[in-house]
Amino acid sequence: MLKMSNHDMTNLRSGAAAVCPACREESLAKRTKRMEGWTCVGEYFACALCGAHWADVEPDKGTSHEKRGSERLEALAGLLGESVPEAPKPLTPGCVTFCKDCLHFMRHPFRDRCLLHGRDTGSMDDCASFERRPVDQNTGEEEKS
Ligand SMILES: [Zn+2]
Repeated sequence: MLKMSNHDMTNLRSGAAAVCPACREESLAKRTKRMEGWTCVGEYFACALCGAHWADVEPDKGTSHEKRGSERLEALAGLLGESVPEAPKPLTPGCVTFCKDCLHFMRHPFRDRCLLHGRDTGSMDDCASFERRPVDQNTGEEEKS
């Protein structure tokens, strides 16, 4: 019933001239969005004169909305994976030992001292002789000694 062959219809492009099978006028292909509510679910070529559906627009590979969306997500995930630093490991008592938490650590305005070894130390230093400073059970704070 269609005058035009399938070949003609599948190779339509916007503005292509063809004889419309519906109104039988020499018409132009009009690229039309197929809407579902407010969402564009596809595109088709329609007769510019009567609006009859001619052929679906083959979605270009890589440019359809869905594809582009997932690619964007992947790109975003990749971006996040690269830019977001690994979550720091939780500080578990007993696992991380800083000299500042040590029983033998003595705070000093100018230099921190290790009383056990009798030498200067840094608050973020670590030591094999680490002994956790007792924690005040009432306040949960370290005892000031
Ligand atoms: Zn027509």
